[in-house]
Amino acid sequence: MDPRSMTPLPPSTIIAAEGWTPASWQSKPIKQDVDYPDKAHLDKVLEKIGRLPPMVVPGEIQRLRQQLADVALGKAFLLQGGDCAELFDYCSQSPIESKLKVMLQMSLVLIWGARMPVVRIARMAGQYAKPRSKPTEMHDGQEILSYRGDNVNGYDPADRNPDPERLLGAYFHSAATLNYVRAILADGFADLHHPSSWNLHHVKSASLRQEYQTIVDRLTDALDFMKTIGADPNSAGSTVGSPLSSLKTVDFFASHEGLLLEYEQALTRLMEDPSNSSQQKYYNVGTHFLWIGDRTRQLDGAHVEYFRGIENPIGVKCGPSMKPEELVALLDVLDADKQPGKVTLISRYGADLVDEFLPAHIKAVQGSGHVVVWACDPMHGNTKQSVSGVKTRHLLDITRELSRAIRIHQQHGSHLGGVHFELTGDRVTECVGGSMELLDAELLDRYETQCDPRLNYEQALDMAFLIAKYQEK
Ligand code: PEP
Ligand code: MN
Repeated sequence: MDPRSMTPLPPSTIIAAEGWTPASWQSKPIKQDVDYPDKAHLDKVLEKIGRLPPMVVPGEIQRLRQQLADVALGKAFLLQGGDCAELFDYCSQSPIESKLKVMLQMSLVLIWGARMPVVRIARMAGQYAKPRSKPTEMHDGQEILSYRGDNVNGYDPADRNPDPERLLGAYFHSAATLNYVRAILADGFADLHHPSSWNLHHVKSASLRQEYQTIVDRLTDALDFMKTIGADPNSAGSTVGSPLSSLKTVDFFASHEGLLLEYEQALTRLMEDPSNSSQQKYYNVGTHFLWIGDRTRQLDGAHVEYFRGIENPIGVKCGPSMKPEELVALLDVLDADKQPGKVTLISRYGADLVDEFLPAHIKAVQGSGHVVVWACDPMHGNTKQSVSGVKTRHLLDITRELSRAIRIHQQHGSHLGGVHFELTGDRVTECVGGSMELLDAELLDRYETQCDPRLNYEQALDMAFLIAKYQEK
């Protein structure tokens, strides 16, 4: 007799938040909803997405939760970055490689500065949907629907009707992007970007270039030393490896704003808990980390309802309009069990407002018993109109908000656990300033974003050097 038939497995228990299902958000008021004219077509697409395999698995999601718990407790630093709006066209070898390269290089500098492991989360492999301030816009004297991101409609003014097939496109472009990221990382891509090969010619100021070069040289020495003595940095016991973690094996997580709830629901699956096989829990298997945007974080709204039920670590954007008591109420809903690092608060006040709003938010969280990751997004509160007429951000404002956030946390017995940037690995000209001293008049040279302005490769590295300098003190 087959011994397995004698000992039936105990039935697994479903662990879920009270009154929550993957569809319970549907009975709540929703913001930024997309109105699809052909509902039957939408349903057919969603049913198909619901049958497609997970893109990520619970074990990876749990590993990220552990790493973010380390960040919340001050044992690791978070780097989150990528495009404002990812395009289906970025699902191609070169844009993926350049984004990975800049994130890996930034994280090396940060590891060196903080003497701590860095958790890398890319706004990538699914960051398609965009909340918009207005549902329509004017184009050549005509009112047309706003561009809502590649998973909803096209940027081309003639292609603005929402098309459900684009949701399927989002799944396949995300899967193909993740597939390539996983392949090149497994193949040693991270090792190819050793700091000794970094080029710092873009740094205009000689003294700043010298400062950067000193960091690169010391980093190179440290890595060479590790190699020479044959140290295995991954054996140090931390969930993220030791600070100078081996370049050969790096964790790299994906994230996006959880905006289109129909899509997120179709990718929400009941899966076995990797640390307790007798339990099943709900995971969003379309990405590792999702965040709620500043426009959709209403306490009684659909997005908060959806987010409260998934096992993934989540982010909440937090700006000047957030009341301290509202922040605590949100945390009570989203992190009911008070798990360190479950929620990342991504603050985005703007350089002129951070002093006014951040202290009260820090105090509210401290009094609440929730242990969060505090990340600073110094981009979204600092968007300005350029002289040339396009949206831009000045590195001086970005730096000012970031350095104030670091200082304010220190002064309040808290710590800034991470940063959140809109960046690209390519040589675009969308933000002003930085070590390359990009001028307003140069913005139109390579202004390519279809949404918010991003740091280019050099400006992204500037940010890493800047933070490393602060952390070293
Ligand atoms: C974004 O991160 O692109 C975004 C829309 O941010 P926020 O929700 O903070 O405005
Ligand atoms: Mn943006």
